[in-house]
Amino acid sequence: CAYQHFLRYGLRLQERESFDLQMYDIGNLYHGALEQSFRKAKEEKRPLEKMEEAELRTLAAESVSETSASYNHGILMDTARNQYLVRKATDITSTTLWALAEQLRRGDFRVDGLEKSFDYLREDMRLTGRIDRVDIAEDEGHVYVKVIDYKSGKTSFDLTRIYDGMQLQLTTYLNVAMAEAAERYPDREIVPAAMFYYHIEDPVLDYDPARTASDTAHERLKKLMMDGLVNTELSVVQKLDHEIQQSSDILPVTIKPGVVDASKKNVASTKRFQDLRHFVDRKMQGFAREIRSGVIGVHPMRLSSDTTACSWCPYHSICGFDPRIEGYQYRSGTLLKPEDIWNEISPEEKSHGMDDGTETGH
Ligand code: SF4
Repeated sequence: CAYQHFLRYGLRLQERESFDLQMYDIGNLYHGALEQSFRKAKEEKRPLEKMEEAELRTLAAESVSETSASYNHGILMDTARNQYLVRKATDITSTTLWALAEQLRRGDFRVDGLEKSFDYLREDMRLTGRIDRVDIAEDEGHVYVKVIDYKSGKTSFDLTRIYDGMQLQLTTYLNVAMAEAAERYPDREIVPAAMFYYHIEDPVLDYDPARTASDTAHERLKKLMMDGLVNTELSVVQKLDHEIQQSSDILPVTIKPGVVDASKKNVASTKRFQDLRHFVDRKMQGFAREIRSGVIGVHPMRLSSDTTACSWCPYHSICGFDPRIEGYQYRSGTLLKPEDIWNEISPEEKSHGMDDGTETGH
């Protein structure tokens, strides 16, 4: 909603601060604890993927405890209820570290950046932000880039939301990470390997007395599988998961004999990645032009049958939006199916002169 943006960034209206724990505080705790864990592991020169589960548990407990003690004047330790939430966060962080370590252990990628701040200049637009994690893998002629956004909520990768301009962040992170890799590795091709949401949670499995410890690990990993977009190149998929057979415990990808099944919604060719990145870039620039030209209409989007852009917006008492009043209505998202969207933003490759979808520093 352009009006929400105007109130927040134009007029800089903020809610009155109160000393209460909000949902985003718990999200910040997870982000802080994960960053702290990776940093400690790096300082001790003991990568996460080399640690045993018990070590990961200790690391999670230390990181959550340190992060919560220093967070917002100790609000996380303020009441017994908050202390309980912190204890629960320790268990969830421990599971998260275990899954992230296992995902790293199974691939060639290494962590290249954590909570990476960026300041991205595009023609008349300047984007600032922070990428939770950037991983890279290398071979002689290529650098492969993967970006990860940790989510404590339910965000899932949705091409229609990207098309509608409601989910541009993750692709922008990939754009930024690839542009930076192109600068650092000017003589190599920069290949988009994957962009993922990782949901921070501690899944519960149904009781099954016949399940072995190894089965349990496989099932937990599957429940904690990242959601996003993966390159259809088999060699890239194998760099992300050495152990992949027909399916993977850690990637939303399936393999038909010798090739990645390209019909799945979570895969895209290098060219499609490239076209999607350009699409998102153009969309961002379109929004930037609208902001500069003073577009501040009250036009919230309906996101699902029971969710709209207004669901978490604090400005309702200012805008007065009410769909029962004539002139006010929710915008609807596209009715296009993902394959139609792909056909529109990434038409079939022509036989000559088509960009191969990779990036170089030249
Ligand atoms: S409540 Fe809805 S219409 Fe009003 S500013 Fe927020 S998003 Fe826009």
